[in-house]
Amino acid sequence: MSVPATREEAVSLDGADRLARERERFVLPEGVIYLDGNSLGPPTKASLARLDRVARGEWAGDLIKSWNTHGWIDLPLRVGDKIGRLIGAQPGETVVADSTSVNLFKVLAAASRLAADRSVILSQDDNFPTDLYIAQGLIELGGGRHRLRTTAEAEIARAIDSDTAIVLLTHVNYRTGAMHDLATLTAAAHAKGALVIWDLAHSVGAVPVDLGAAKADFAVGCGYKFLNGGPGAPAFVWVARRHQERFTQPLSGWLGHAQPFAFAPGYAPAPGVARFLCGTPPILSLAALEEGVDAMLAVEPQRLRAKSIALGDALIGLVEARCARLGLELVSPRDGARRGSQVSLSHPRAHEIMQALIARGVIGDFRPPDILRFGLAPLYLRFADIWDAVEALGTVMRGREFDDPRHGQRAKVT
Ligand SMILES: *Cc1c(COP(=O)(O)O)cnc(C)c1O
Repeated sequence: MSVPATREEAVSLDGADRLARERERFVLPEGVIYLDGNSLGPPTKASLARLDRVARGEWAGDLIKSWNTHGWIDLPLRVGDKIGRLIGAQPGETVVADSTSVNLFKVLAAASRLAADRSVILSQDDNFPTDLYIAQGLIELGGGRHRLRTTAEAEIARAIDSDTAIVLLTHVNYRTGAMHDLATLTAAAHAKGALVIWDLAHSVGAVPVDLGAAKADFAVGCGYKFLNGGPGAPAFVWVARRHQERFTQPLSGWLGHAQPFAFAPGYAPAPGVARFLCGTPPILSLAALEEGVDAMLAVEPQRLRAKSIALGDALIGLVEARCARLGLELVSPRDGARRGSQVSLSHPRAHEIMQALIARGVIGDFRPPDILRFGLAPLYLRFADIWDAVEALGTVMRGREFDDPRHGQRAKVT
């Protein structure tokens, strides 16, 4: 446990932190403590420089030749393989494309074709809504051949049966930070003959994942959260090699074709995971994402995880020590091994409290109905930041700053 008793102790934890220098890779505004890198990661200096190079040098300078001369066409698979190293993939199992939502559609459709003799897509009541929405849309498109069933987190393993086609789960819960045991649930699904799709949006870049060791089937994940790819950065798809040639996905666009530049009228899927591409990739975003992923690959994953847990333990311990009896409840698992890289607290006035914190330069986010969410990105956060954030929280709570009417207004994005 690393709960500092004073700010000096927090600073000395930073002094002993072997990841402390990684912060220098990032561009962060002065006077801000950023606890929202799980929603939109900040840029690295390398990403900003790369964006400039790709825009001014490659796009403006070499125009369309850049697809070949600067390897633009290879970026989806190249960056995919780099992300693959963070999730226990083999080369050729991961590709960057589209958004997480669109990729979920592709893998759900592909998997439901494989499991056509079973009717249930099983998920969790409080899964991230887009995952449930995409399943609903796909089921409607399929004319009701499948149905969506959701259960509470604790009931999932028991709910898998011989009619379960697909288990669709998010590894780290976006609201609570609770983390599933990926290997155990994958094995439980396989024992009943079901396939599993893992959404790694809140895992990749923060929690080591080993899809290969777990013998997982499919996964998707997000490029703009802990991977720091930038707003709207493309997402990724991972497909176990043993499944790749067995199915196709329905968004059969030309870049997933075996020979896109043959311009043949009939679709023939590319070999391997490239068939999960659809249209032209967003090169600027992909280039920025590659730099974000490279920053992640430069550090030891276990060291990243250890710091993430220590930051979470410190935040929980400090809230309990310094914000006791202010009505804040811990929502995240106390056990770091069961927690992703975030800590969530609940309070009936959570929205206004978060607005008041943001006004003080501590940026986290609010999730309905009553959750204050603090993302813990171990590459650039310091223990002193956690100390200062909890001090700000105490000040907001004790001064009832959340009663200020200007903190009551809800913006489009929370
Ligand atoms: C953030 C997030 C997404 C995002 O999907 P987009 O298509 O990129 O908007 C999907 N699933 C989960 C679990 C998320 O947390």
